[in-house]
Amino acid sequence: MERTLSIVKPDGVNQHLIGEIIKRFEGNGLKVIGLKMIWMGRKEAEGFYAVHRGKPFFESLTGFMSSGPCVVMVLEGDGAISKTRAWMGATDPKKAGEGTLRRQFAADIEQNIVHGSDAPETAAFEISYFFNALEVFSY
Ligand code: UDP
Ligand code: MG
Repeated sequence: MERTLSIVKPDGVNQHLIGEIIKRFEGNGLKVIGLKMIWMGRKEAEGFYAVHRGKPFFESLTGFMSSGPCVVMVLEGDGAISKTRAWMGATDPKKAGEGTLRRQFAADIEQNIVHGSDAPETAAFEISYFFNALEVFSY
């Protein structure tokens, strides 16, 4: 069973898309095994996106991610990482496939409503960034 970390980003929360996004994941067979609302400070957003430090969009991205509350969740299921990425669609909503969450709801390449881990190693780092052992459940 694979695990991944997903985030309903501040724009998704503002657009009342928490339920829509969870429904897409849960309704397609992934299990929610950890869930909470958080509001990241700038430093926390910078730590989460440390891999993107130095890129031209880093300042704007971390400002956006700390601009309001997010919903963070741990999802479990066969192929959880690739399935979540497929349902999200490409980073740029203009390039995202028909029927994907980003194509359907995202405004632009930065404010793209949802995050999903891109590999097992990043999923492990990202899950542990927001959740401790007592906040993730096997059931
Ligand atoms: N991002 C951006 N401009 C870019 C590329 C990415 O603002 O040119 C933002 C966007 O919010 C994206 C996040 O940075 O979701 C992380 O980028 P990544 O390439 O990891 O995209 P993702 O894995 O989220 O599709
Ligand atoms: Mg990424």
